[in-house]
Amino acid sequence: MSVCMVATDGSQHADHALTIASSLAKTDNSKLILVHVVSHDEPPTSVSEGMQVEFGRELETRLSSSSEIYKNLGQMPDYGVIQSQHAEISRVMNTIYGEQLLKHAKDKLRELGHESVESLLLEGDPADQLVAQAREHRADMVVMGCRGLGRLKSLFGSVSQQVAHELDCRVVLVK
Ligand code: ATP
Ligand code: MG
Repeated sequence: MSVCMVATDGSQHADHALTIASSLAKTDNSKLILVHVVSHDEPPTSVSEGMQVEFGRELETRLSSSSEIYKNLGQMPDYGVIQSQHAEISRVMNTIYGEQLLKHAKDKLRELGHESVESLLLEGDPADQLVAQAREHRADMVVMGCRGLGRLKSLFGSVSQQVAHELDCRVVLVK
């Protein structure tokens, strides 16, 4: 059975990529694998342009288990501490966002008739991870948005360009 990987960052283009991936997977009778990479460097503000996610309670719960941060919240610690807290809060927010995103995308694919879609929540550099996963799962095709949540509105984003450049399989970039 052939494998079709679809990557989402929650942007509108990625949402369109889900629809196209669904019909291509039906035509080719492919197994669908859904992927999101929790990015380390993306600031949480960029998330607000994507899918709407309610963070409140969930963020509090996860941060309170990360004792160092919770202990220091409300104080005025030094720059290094603030920086590491900021990084940790970003990571937790981006992880919650990623989990919600995959759930949302799976629901959409289910509505389109795909009952059991494998989904992967990864961490690291998005393009490197997408290329590595496509190779590991021997994807015959990768479907993604031509661009995503980035602020620069050129036709192609850096992730879609790198993935299309590095992979030998078919890569479909969707507007
Ligand atoms: P840039 O990130 O270079 O500022 P951009 O955000 O506009 O630009 P890309 O990041 O290349 O554009 O996004 C293109 C497509 O790549 C998205 O529509 C999505 O399908 C996929 N993609 C981007 N980031 C991720 C990610 N973190 N996880 C999964 N897929 C991603
Ligand atoms: Mg991007």
